[in-house]
Amino acid sequence: MATEIEQMRTLPEAGDHYAVEEIDGIELIDKLATLGISAADVKKAKDAGYHTVRSLLMSPKKHLWNIKGLSEAKVDKMLDAARKLSGEVVFITGGQLLELKRSVLKITTGCQAIDALVGGIETQCVTEVYGEFKTGKTQLCSTVCVTTQLPTESGGGAGKVCYIDTEGSFRPERIAPIAERYALSPDEVLNNIVYARAHTSDNQMDLINMTAGLFAEEPFRLLVIDSISALFRVDYVGRGELAERQQKLGAMMSKLKKLAEEYNIAVLLTNQVMADPSGQMFVADPKKHVGGHIMSHASTCRFMTRKGKGDTRVLKVIQHPSVGESEAVFQITNGGIIDAED
Ligand code: ATP
Ligand code: MG
Repeated sequence: MATEIEQMRTLPEAGDHYAVEEIDGIELIDKLATLGISAADVKKAKDAGYHTVRSLLMSPKKHLWNIKGLSEAKVDKMLDAARKLSGEVVFITGGQLLELKRSVLKITTGCQAIDALVGGIETQCVTEVYGEFKTGKTQLCSTVCVTTQLPTESGGGAGKVCYIDTEGSFRPERIAPIAERYALSPDEVLNNIVYARAHTSDNQMDLINMTAGLFAEEPFRLLVIDSISALFRVDYVGRGELAERQQKLGAMMSKLKKLAEEYNIAVLLTNQVMADPSGQMFVADPKKHVGGHIMSHASTCRFMTRKGKGDTRVLKVIQHPSVGESEAVFQITNGGIIDAED
């Protein structure tokens, strides 16, 4: 047993190897103090979920004006300082863009057939997995929670994981056997997963805003939200509230996209297929996931899961920047997602 532990790979000690400022060139908002912004105003922005200079520059002004205690004039002054700190870079060269894209990591799903298709779950990208119940969405999330912690040369992201659970379906005891499959220490892997349970859609948004604080301080590489829509379906009922629901969901998706790009994080969302108003459990077209167009525009990669032959599951690529509609077969095991046995 001791030898097994010895053989286990050493996990990234978050915070140890990385000075905060060194994470992907993240410029923390605290630096605004050097350009005459008061510490109190910086704190107000932080309390509202803005932790980096880039997060300010990426937000519409009207959102910044809503920060408690900051006047429009103060926001403008803060933005001026933020622009100065970021070097006023607006246009970048194609070469710089390529460099930025090179920092994208593709995290293994545990199933070679899926990895061969899409390369893995990408950072700087929002990936949505939707499908009927028990098709493996949560199991895929659990697997990627572990593989994200592998070194990059082993298909991982060498980073920590943040998990927002809206349905209470995360099972920490599922993590140990998956960690063992990859010769990682189950305790360390669990300690590198930061977990929060959301109980309302507002609560979910608050938690997402709080993640920026975590990501600015330690090397996180994965944010899971399982599921993105469940609480919205409870909080917004009927057609009368549909527009408001879509607007809130849209704002959440836009925030997630920014977080993914700003911190080089893979955002992995699950979603359910829509219940049929006529009373049947599911609509005939299973592509109708909750959130409709809002979700389709906001997630860069969309996969659909369904049951396959026997115990197998099928992952279908619905939307991907470089892969057409295609499918891969996988299986759920105690060690997580694997290739289907023939
Ligand atoms: P929902 O929409 O209800 O959240 P889901 O798509 O998230 O469903 P999962 O929970 O990921 O579904 O997958 C459930 C399936 O995983 C079940 O069929 C279950 O039998 C299988 N499963 C769970 N744990 C194991 C395990 N340790 N070994 C093998 N199969 C497992
Ligand atoms: Mg689930």
